[in-house]
Amino acid sequence: MYRALNKQPLLILVLLYCSIVGYAMADDISLNKTIPLDILEHNNVAYISLNELVDTHKLYTNYYESKDKLEVVYNRKKMYFSPGLSYCKMNGEIYNLIHPTLYTKNTFYVPIKTFYQALKQAGFPFRIIKQTDKLLYVIKNLYNINQVDVKNKKNGTVINLHTSRSFVSDNISGSISSSNWLNITILGGILDSLNLNTAFLQKPILKIETMQLKESAQISLLLENQIEDFDIIIRESMITFLLRSSIEDNAEKIIELRKKWLIDTIVIDPGHGGKDPGALGHKLQEKDITLDISKKLGKMLERNLGINVVYTREEDVFVPLWKRTKMANSVGGKLFISLHVNATEKSPHIHGFETYLLRPGKTDQAIEVVKRENSVIELEKEEHNYADLKNENYIIASMAQNSFMKESEDLAALINQHMASNLQNMTKNRGVKQAGFHVLVGATMPNVLVEVGFLSNKNEASNLSRSYYRRNIAESIYKAILDFKLKYEKPLLK
Ligand SMILES: [Zn+2]
Repeated sequence: MYRALNKQPLLILVLLYCSIVGYAMADDISLNKTIPLDILEHNNVAYISLNELVDTHKLYTNYYESKDKLEVVYNRKKMYFSPGLSYCKMNGEIYNLIHPTLYTKNTFYVPIKTFYQALKQAGFPFRIIKQTDKLLYVIKNLYNINQVDVKNKKNGTVINLHTSRSFVSDNISGSISSSNWLNITILGGILDSLNLNTAFLQKPILKIETMQLKESAQISLLLENQIEDFDIIIRESMITFLLRSSIEDNAEKIIELRKKWLIDTIVIDPGHGGKDPGALGHKLQEKDITLDISKKLGKMLERNLGINVVYTREEDVFVPLWKRTKMANSVGGKLFISLHVNATEKSPHIHGFETYLLRPGKTDQAIEVVKRENSVIELEKEEHNYADLKNENYIIASMAQNSFMKESEDLAALINQHMASNLQNMTKNRGVKQAGFHVLVGATMPNVLVEVGFLSNKNEASNLSRSYYRRNIAESIYKAILDFKLKYEKPLLK
């Protein structure tokens, strides 16, 4: 048994235009190739050759002559077919093929429609893509996470993910968000999204959302009730989540839980500082602007909402990137917001604000920002082992992040929305983006990085030099946090 990462306090991290490293992960899922199989018509029923299927899918077979039976083996699961019989056996179960298996010229033929239905029901990951008069196009080994089922027990719920390969505990992480989403990340998982998304929804699951990335699969289940805790059990072809029931009748625990989730501490991270000025342009330094906006924002949160605000720096001092997240985690921050200002050599006309999430993803502009913002590491005196965000370390780092992805996305969207309406006509909304900023890695709370504008643009630099403009930015982020707080705390205050 393996205790999952579980409920952790919310943290929103907003970084203002800092460095981002992006990776192309979501856009090139390497699906297996489509394979054409010849179709044989027999009594108006379309058949395919099992022998051809076995060859093209690299399966292996045993032919039991005495029993007049063909055994097909896939991943230690077995199927049996006999000539003349309109039944077959898959994975220990009998399936009705309606039409008989044919045997002619040393070749077995099975009726396409019912055969593929049986494969699906038996959990084999072979699917039909397209069928023409003469050819059937199929895909093999496409999925390894095929189905989800739910069993309700007296003191909790059992959620089973059926898999067609085995996973180990290091491949799997799960967490429950304050809004009752159970977020599961499976490294190496390939989702049968069609099957999962249309899966029979049964209480306490209200909704299923899936996301396929190149190296990992994410499944989010919206649960009806609060879950106290959960365990993950991994078996050969099954990943089981044991959810322990909510604790609605335990008043003390509810209070505790609320404390855990209430957005009562927010960590604001003013980018750069001390010997690291950050971006420069038109006689301005990023570090001064981020500190000023941070303090303006902090004051609004403290005065109006009574929130405990923790700054990663309150003066013009140098703070290593790793320390900033560590600080946020250690004070129990519920949101982490990192503020930055951008600059680019590409063109003096480029301007506008952007909000970033730590996530696999890639845009060319994002890479420029990431390089610049992450380059601060070179100024750090203390040795710190930063994971190379180019390989699987990135995935593992982002797995923890994924637990808060929904909240981080919501916060980023709200910040962009309020900045767009507050700063109307003065700047440009460059959108919510994704990239690999070191300062966000390891934050155990929702987190965002905001790049508030470009110092390399004359007009934007002039705006950023004015106190009222910086107050407008702080106010936009404040409004976004307020919206976020209302949304996420509401279920707790019922
Ligand atoms: Zn920066």
